[in-house]
Amino acid sequence: METSIDVRDLRKRYGSTVAVDGLSFEVRPGLVTGFVGPNGAGKSTTMRVILGLDAADEGSALIGGRPYRSLRAPLREVGALLDAASVHPGRRARDHLLWMAHYSGLPRRRVGEVLDLVGLSSVARRRVGGFSLGMRQRLGIAAALLGDPPVLMFDEPVNGLDPEGIRWIRELLRSMAAEGRAVLVSSHLMGELEDTADHLVVIGRGRLIADTTVRELLETASAGRVVLRTARRSEAMSVLANAGAEVAATERDTLTVTGLPAERIATLLGESGLPVSELAQHRASLEEAYMELTRDSVDYRVEVAK
Ligand code: ADP
Repeated sequence: METSIDVRDLRKRYGSTVAVDGLSFEVRPGLVTGFVGPNGAGKSTTMRVILGLDAADEGSALIGGRPYRSLRAPLREVGALLDAASVHPGRRARDHLLWMAHYSGLPRRRVGEVLDLVGLSSVARRRVGGFSLGMRQRLGIAAALLGDPPVLMFDEPVNGLDPEGIRWIRELLRSMAAEGRAVLVSSHLMGELEDTADHLVVIGRGRLIADTTVRELLETASAGRVVLRTARRSEAMSVLANAGAEVAATERDTLTVTGLPAERIATLLGESGLPVSELAQHRASLEEAYMELTRDSVDYRVEVAK
């Protein structure tokens, strides 16, 4: 399969801070790829380097096989939403997009099209200074879509949005991927991407932690764990522990068991005359899987004011 974004052995430091530490991953067309990691993990830095806004110290970041700075019509190749607050507040939404289109040699009609697409047509002549955060996000997305690019990048696009805005962005990302575009979307909250991403690139402290499909990650996190509900919890615990299982008491009446298959657990408890009201494979949430993956890589450094 062709690669839309190719990050290879990327390294970037700011003074003594290593922001990106030998990172490699690919982003493919037709998929929403979630780019996840705790705050400070290096997501924005990676995106800025891909967009040529920052220079890599080592390694490469290519879009469609080429560095951003060598793209002849960048807005037709990649659209990005990095910082929605960056439009001058005195500008009118439509004028901002018209200026971008003019500057990039894109047809004027695209402005009307993208304003419709993001639902801003009725406020297109208003000044951006009076826009809500959600409206600014939409304007930023309109700008990203202006050149109808095959590659899209969004840095924390749902931060600060209301549930309706969040749902709208999710649907937009899914539809953009369904059209065959490559979509890279960052978040510090894995749960945010649960229904949106197909693939995940998880990083911590500038390094790759996981590069996997959402389904594989959930399966790994759920693997071998059985959830058991019984009114006689402590007796069940000793029976299962004696049989070699690792048993943890979780919610009321509930045990999480590892090391024994569900059928064996059912047999053991049946033989001991212990009641079982529920017995099921554990289904991890993405948030759970993420906590497990990043447990050792959360950045506890505190910024000291100078
Ligand atoms: P994320 O987007 O995952 O939250 P960032 O890429 O913003 O992470 O930051 C990675 C690290 O690089 C952090 O320690 C951050 O403080 C540092 N950093 C990012 N940009 C700069 C900069 N312009 N100058 C100095 N340090 C920076």
